[in-house]
Amino acid sequence: MLRNGYLVWEGASLIDGSPIVLILTGFVNPTSNRKTGRQLQSWILLQNYVPTYAAKHGFDRSICGDCPLKLSETGSCYVNLLTPNNIYRSYIGGNYPKFSEKELALLQHYRYPIRLGSYGDPTAVPLEVWEPIILASGKYTGYSHNWRNTNSLWKQYLMASVHSIPEAKEAQKQGWRTFRIIAPDAQLSNNEILCRHTEDDRIDCSKCLLCDGSSTKPNIADKVHGLNWKVSNFLKYLESTSN
Ligand code: SF4
Repeated sequence: MLRNGYLVWEGASLIDGSPIVLILTGFVNPTSNRKTGRQLQSWILLQNYVPTYAAKHGFDRSICGDCPLKLSETGSCYVNLLTPNNIYRSYIGGNYPKFSEKELALLQHYRYPIRLGSYGDPTAVPLEVWEPIILASGKYTGYSHNWRNTNSLWKQYLMASVHSIPEAKEAQKQGWRTFRIIAPDAQLSNNEILCRHTEDDRIDCSKCLLCDGSSTKPNIADKVHGLNWKVSNFLKYLESTSN
């Protein structure tokens, strides 16, 4: 019987060697996230800490790298940690069967779209673990704040997450397409378009799939959104980097 979630991999984080895990969910119950739509979700979690505890104590670096938005840093990450907490508890409770060739074949058959890194940076997990899943699905979106340090082969699948025009230019020069989060009143650069969901909320990532790594497609920018205190932390962060 098809289960909602599967344990894909357990191993050492490529960021700092800590034990981490990759879990895929949404095979039966799709996410209620209106922006991502019906994408399978992927969770990169520490094996030994509840996500909120890890974030509070700075252990989230093992899965988020140097992302400045993480809760242990500027506290502006858009992810609501209650969901990763629940997934972590199910993992610890042994509720996720191992992802096998059978589920991989299903993925290939139905071509479920996948969000690479619903929480955690995809590049913390070896590309060899992801690649069969990415290729079986053929439809994915993903982002990395770790683009300066990771295997450059990731460029073909992920957007570089950036927060300023100079940073976007640096990443683009290295061959990345970029995804830039901007203040609500900021202008787009001439090689960026606004996230399609922000333009029209009938479009979601599962249909749009523009954020799928290097190609001739435009770079993407999106207005910061989410809980007021997170937006406010993000704007403070942007201001601090522009001084
Ligand atoms: S541009 Fe498309 S794929 Fe990228 S975040 Fe917006 S809706 Fe999702």
